[in-house]
Amino acid sequence: MFDDLQLPIEFTAAGDTPEEQKTNLKIVKPSPGFEPASELVVEIILKDANVTVMDFSAQKVVTRFQIDGMWHAGAPMERETGDYILATLKQLAGLDYRERRQRQEGQFSTLYRKQKQKFKVVSQGIQTGERVAIYLDYKRPPLDKALDLGMRERMLDQLRPILNDQNTGMVLVSGLPGEGYTTAWRGVLDACDRLTRDYFVMEEKGKLEPEVINIYPVEFDPSQGETAMTPIPQLLLKEPDVLAFTDLTGGELINDIIDLSNNKKIPIFTRIPGKHCVDALLRVLLLKPDVKKFAESLTCVLSMRLIRLLCNNCRIPYQPHPTLLQKLGLPGGRIAELYKPMVYQPGMVDENDIEIEPCSECAGIGYRGRTGLFEMLTINDDLRRAIVKTPQANKISALAKHQGHISLQMEGIVMVAAGRTSVEELQRVLKS
Ligand SMILES: [Zn+2]
Repeated sequence: MFDDLQLPIEFTAAGDTPEEQKTNLKIVKPSPGFEPASELVVEIILKDANVTVMDFSAQKVVTRFQIDGMWHAGAPMERETGDYILATLKQLAGLDYRERRQRQEGQFSTLYRKQKQKFKVVSQGIQTGERVAIYLDYKRPPLDKALDLGMRERMLDQLRPILNDQNTGMVLVSGLPGEGYTTAWRGVLDACDRLTRDYFVMEEKGKLEPEVINIYPVEFDPSQGETAMTPIPQLLLKEPDVLAFTDLTGGELINDIIDLSNNKKIPIFTRIPGKHCVDALLRVLLLKPDVKKFAESLTCVLSMRLIRLLCNNCRIPYQPHPTLLQKLGLPGGRIAELYKPMVYQPGMVDENDIEIEPCSECAGIGYRGRTGLFEMLTINDDLRRAIVKTPQANKISALAKHQGHISLQMEGIVMVAAGRTSVEELQRVLKS
């Protein structure tokens, strides 16, 4: 399928010593599965699929790749080929290839295009046969800097003074779990981290998240009757500048947090799952805090969603129909072109009937990498009154819009107009 498959790939098999690794590789190299397994491994690297799942049933093997958070079907495979490939992968990972029921887990690594990759193979017998998951672990930097995530400079300029003001009150961060919830949270904490102040994050024992540099996680243990407020008296002795709470578990906790913020003049960052800023805000109200207190304390809500970026190498320009532009609220005269993905399918031909190769940058997916789509809602007194008196999504959204608030959808349309993503991708992201 890929021309690039001709490029050499080097394997390092599992083993306790370099000698053992070499011996294990020597055993597996002449096996009939070695070549097709190498091809699969290269395909995983080229597609940058962080998880690949192979499902073995009596007749065939179905392969799926997870790329930038989305599942893509692989080409169907005969059971026999699949068995050969699996035997090779298991041997590379130091597993027993004859064992097809018990859960097994092992690792191997590769060198391809001068980059090192680590693979984890997990196999497990299931009712219909066997399921195998192959995890690709690049040593890539985590996507956790607000700027790297694509927050626009103008929004950052609005956000910085809020994050740096000692009288800020409460900042609420939101997103959808699995679609940028944790990433958004880390991005905001990181944006604060640039400053030389002391930040502490209250985290439930066993749920610790990847640490942001210079932000100190403080554990509490609910099984011991502790809450996020338990460590606070001790912590106050250290004179923290900002306190962050990863989970709002109920109205009582919210009230306690706000009292703490008011009494000690400490800004509070917290988060809740939500589709967009107004949704997040209403979800806090469902926890039944003291609404007036909450509205008075809240300064700003930030929401983020991950969105895939079009592959710059193969994106296809097109002239959007005027009705589409109108639907998107884009001025007809100014936008000459939008872009859509080039999605490769085996057997595709060009105008001269010559078979097309998949794009070398995105392996024919049409997208490459993701970025954050941000929405920021600044809470003013009008919105505070609305939160207390008419806490309904349409009422608050309408008022925010009237005050010039840019919705998540509008932020996305700006990205579409700039050719960074497609209309379809924006629709997918906003629908979920
Ligand atoms: Zn491409």
